[in-house]
Amino acid sequence: MNEPGPPRLKIIYILGSTQSGSTILDMAVGTASSAVSTGELGHIFWAFEAAREGSSSVTVPNCSCGLLVTQCPLWSVVWAEMAARGNLREFEEENRRFETTALSVPTAVAARLAHSRAFARHLDELGSMLRSVARNASAGIIVDSTKDPGRGWLYSLLPTPEFDVRFIHMVRDGRSVLSSMMVTSQPDRFNSAPSPWPPPAAAFFSTLHWIYMNLHASILGRANRDRYLRIRYEDLVSHPLETLESIEAFAEIDLSESRKRVTAGKPLSSGHLLCGNRSKTAPTLKVQASGRSRSSLSRGPELIFLLLAGWLQWYYLRPSVPKGPTGLRTQKARRNLTSSHFEGEKRS
Ligand SMILES: [Zn+2]
Repeated sequence: MNEPGPPRLKIIYILGSTQSGSTILDMAVGTASSAVSTGELGHIFWAFEAAREGSSSVTVPNCSCGLLVTQCPLWSVVWAEMAARGNLREFEEENRRFETTALSVPTAVAARLAHSRAFARHLDELGSMLRSVARNASAGIIVDSTKDPGRGWLYSLLPTPEFDVRFIHMVRDGRSVLSSMMVTSQPDRFNSAPSPWPPPAAAFFSTLHWIYMNLHASILGRANRDRYLRIRYEDLVSHPLETLESIEAFAEIDLSESRKRVTAGKPLSSGHLLCGNRSKTAPTLKVQASGRSRSSLSRGPELIFLLLAGWLQWYYLRPSVPKGPTGLRTQKARRNLTSSHFEGEKRS
């Protein structure tokens, strides 16, 4: 009789645009028992660089536990283990090439087709890092809201006997995303400030970002249909319980504690989030039990967004309840219509 192998490490990777609410989703999923919220795990090099340089940024050098990443009981140990494997500099360079730049996806695809040793080494190191996070956080589920499409592709290539990767694509109305993105820019590597760009330019580039990140997420979802779920930010904040139930069913995890906290109006677990959109003074966030986000975008930028991205916005936000002879095809669809909360895909 065969011995059962070690349990698979579940990775929940959140995709989507900046300012789409991925941090709050990270925390909601990371409140599951045996899970750890890691925030933007793919930006760990950035966080340690900011800590080393004594950056005044509120979020970049600080873990959500309130400590500098160099002092955090999780990240300081994970970093030391990465360094002990002896290839920290290579890992950082490959992280940039294959994960974080605008051309990282074609670069990674070309490297894989060419059987690049650097690519294989990077994938190995990524697996080692995930094992290190799981071991030191005593977690069987890692939630990563880096959102970079390159990292998503790498996760999809992790060996399935050991890793169980699920993708959650968070879509937010692009007009709300733009109204957040347009008021800030990044004058240096670690800090945000009011945007110096005129509104039309800021709207144009913010719209391109929204299209790029969401299209990549959808393409990744097409290639990984069995492990991809798309949800809407507006549904998470207006119908949090039903949306969490959908995630629970899709990811096969227990989110009862998250639902309990939402119902009681208590904050979600903040875990050890890296980077992301959070406040130093409020390391925990609450899911709002009601209310929808409203766009405060002025007419000009809204027109630019709708002209460039209206087609994709329509695709994501259109009503999509499947119909059958009785109007609704499945029990699940019926439930979805009742709560009008969920637009996603799970095919198994
Ligand atoms: Zn921490």
